[in-house]
Amino acid sequence: MKFSLGNKLTLLLCLFGLLLSGFASYYALSSSKQILIDAAKRDLLVANQVLGRNLQIRLENFAKDLKVLSAQSQPVDVLEDTPRSSREALELTRLFTSMLDAHPEYQRIRLIEAKNHGLERISVNHHGAAASSALKEKGHFPYVFKTLKLLPGQQFFSEMAPSRIDPDNALTLHLASPVWTSDQQVLGVLVLSININKLFSRLQRELPDYYQFFLANSQGELLLNPGRETFQARDQGPRVMIQTQLPQILALLGGKSSSMLSILPAKREQPTRLVAFSTVSIAAESNHLLLGLAVPEKHILQASQELDQRLIHIIAVLSLITLMLSLWLARRMIRPLNQIGLAIAHFSKNLSLQPLPTERGDELGKLARDIRAMQEKILTQIVELNTNQQELQRMAHNDPLTGLPNRRLFFDSLNHAISNAERRGKLVGLLYVDIDHFKEINDSHGHAAGDEVLVNVAHLLGSVIRSGDTVARLGGDEFVILIDEVESSATLMGIAQKLLVLLQNRLLIDGKSLQVRASLGISLYPQDGSDAETLLHNADRAMYRSKRSGRNTITSA
Ligand code: GH3
Ligand code: MG
Repeated sequence: MKFSLGNKLTLLLCLFGLLLSGFASYYALSSSKQILIDAAKRDLLVANQVLGRNLQIRLENFAKDLKVLSAQSQPVDVLEDTPRSSREALELTRLFTSMLDAHPEYQRIRLIEAKNHGLERISVNHHGAAASSALKEKGHFPYVFKTLKLLPGQQFFSEMAPSRIDPDNALTLHLASPVWTSDQQVLGVLVLSININKLFSRLQRELPDYYQFFLANSQGELLLNPGRETFQARDQGPRVMIQTQLPQILALLGGKSSSMLSILPAKREQPTRLVAFSTVSIAAESNHLLLGLAVPEKHILQASQELDQRLIHIIAVLSLITLMLSLWLARRMIRPLNQIGLAIAHFSKNLSLQPLPTERGDELGKLARDIRAMQEKILTQIVELNTNQQELQRMAHNDPLTGLPNRRLFFDSLNHAISNAERRGKLVGLLYVDIDHFKEINDSHGHAAGDEVLVNVAHLLGSVIRSGDTVARLGGDEFVILIDEVESSATLMGIAQKLLVLLQNRLLIDGKSLQVRASLGISLYPQDGSDAETLLHNADRAMYRSKRSGRNTITSA
């Protein structure tokens, strides 16, 4: 590729265009990515808070269900062993069963009496009511002995822990309400066990698949961890603390803030995730949970990847447009420059004018107009120079008054004729003419009349010669005629006589008729001289002899 100015300009414009669109696209991409991430962070935080509120409402509803249940007469009747107790127990079992049917997350509902070491009186789970032989003493469990100490209206919320009786090792929360008689005697407790895993899988269904839940207790111990399928029981290994993964959560654990947003770096099979945590209070302030919601970063950036694709397309189209525009612009700028260059080259070679972009209104148009003006000036000056040169030539070789060749030019012609004649063995004749008493014409009629006579005589002499012959004015009233290739001296004499007769005609000068005569001397090459000087000298001498013999006559050399 030839690196002409046009190519350089195209490349430069192209690079400039590409840089510009690249920067613009990069800026648009990075800022839109940031906007997407910021929006996703906000959404995640809001979703987490809504979820937390949802969880809290559900737990409150469970507690309300239990409270309503404990306020019924049946538990009291059953625990007081009244005559209706066996019927009421059946009634209560049915009620527990229908409550379990309505709430898949309810794991078990039990009625436990205070006496007999907290013996279970009714225990219903999703498989049905436990047989009386399967009922056990539960007085040593906190949800029994702590609940029995509660005041009317108070409820017990256990710590979340894996259920020891659930084969799935599900995470369980025990809610318990004391059962009071009308005379403020505590007879036992109603215990509602919640399968937290089921509760969360229901919550999970309300959100897109890629959302993950974290749940930690008030110490930061991870209860639900998306990295592990099931909760890790305390006796199955060390406790997993959320603060070891996410030290920033300490502010939340310390109660300094109620929500936070962070990034969980990629770990094992888990990708990098954006995670939001918020606090969910359960009954008492001291007993709270940390609820986390995580979303993989790639989901947030999915929209920006589509944006990337679109931007790549836009950049490709922009680049193509830039290239075409650059080419067009460079050609538009370079074409007139090339035209100007060609026109200058042509002018300097042939001195001819070629079209120039003079009609343009820009700097190139001005340059073209200046160049055109310069070319026209050069052409005018060349014409002037030629005219002057021709004039100088003419002045150097011609007599200014008559226009006849002067002595110098005559000698050139004579030398040329002699060398021709010498080569071809021919004769050259010279007629030397001097006007008789010319001074008198000047004196009596004036110098101007004398000039007019000289011009008339010049015409007269010119009229008698053939083409190829030369008439010249040697100076004053002296003329000389070169007769090239004259046949003989007789022919030359004939011409001289004819001329003499012609000169005797009167001339009309300034309205006056003047009689002009002349004396002639003739010489012939080669007999009267082999060179121009001798030949002319001899013709001159012959002319003088004519003067001396009375003028108006012809003498041969
Ligand atoms: P002759 O018969 O012996 O030739 O006598 P002439 O009077 O013709 O004298 P001559 O030829 O010796 O002198 C020529 C004169 O011509 C001298 C000069 O005054 C005059 N003359 C020379 N050049 C010019 C000219 O250009 N114009 C005019 N009007 N007169 C000229
Ligand atoms: Mg004379």
